[in-house]
Amino acid sequence: MPVLSAAARTRLRLAGFGALLAGCSVGEYQYTEVEGRGGWRSERESACIAARPPSATITTLAAITEEGTCGMDFPLQIVAIANGSVAVSPNPTLNCPFTDALEAWMANSVQPAARAGFGVEVVEIKQISAYACRNRNNFGRELSEHAFGNALDVAGFKLANGREVIVQSGWNGKPDEQAFLRQIFGGACAIFTTSLGPTSNIMHYNHFHIDLAKMAPDGSPKMCKPPLGEASAVTAVTEVPADVTIAVPTAVPGAD
Ligand SMILES: [Zn+2]
Repeated sequence: MPVLSAAARTRLRLAGFGALLAGCSVGEYQYTEVEGRGGWRSERESACIAARPPSATITTLAAITEEGTCGMDFPLQIVAIANGSVAVSPNPTLNCPFTDALEAWMANSVQPAARAGFGVEVVEIKQISAYACRNRNNFGRELSEHAFGNALDVAGFKLANGREVIVQSGWNGKPDEQAFLRQIFGGACAIFTTSLGPTSNIMHYNHFHIDLAKMAPDGSPKMCKPPLGEASAVTAVTEVPADVTIAVPTAVPGAD
């Protein structure tokens, strides 16, 4: 194999990833975070922090830079979102733009679906991976959006009446849980640039992976798997990867 320049290697990786995404109608994929933490992340974080009101349950930590490309300029330690009304457990570290998107998903999709489907609101998000300096498991050597605090793996929810709705058991579980999870997954697809749920691939049998990867300068197109219209028509992946622990909320790295 001839020696390739860094730029050529980058093009090759992008071409390969683009091919993977072609089946999702993503088209011209412009993922730019191949060689390092780009300026657009800092710009988004700075603008977000400047606009974010103080919160008793969300605190700003010192910049995370010691892990090289991984990290954030303004990491947020989340105890609860939605003015403290929705705990996130275990408490994750996330970037500001993602936290804003998580709040929007909660207000515009999750809580309306919970009120309609269960008659009560969600009081806790159960997550199994937030900030983590690691690569994607199944998309080659590129860093995961988790490495920038720009992603969350959501394993389930606790309702105000104590009931728990878990992605792994609920996706093909009780009818009201199936309906709720599909509705809010569709809501996630409208807000996040990447939304991967059960049946998208074997690694997502027990969680929604949601992130704000920069797909294109305007933030679109998005990756939404399974597509909303197909969500109820496909069968959940039941085979469990050997290296994945099922326990919730024990941290289980997602595929992305
Ligand atoms: Zn993930």
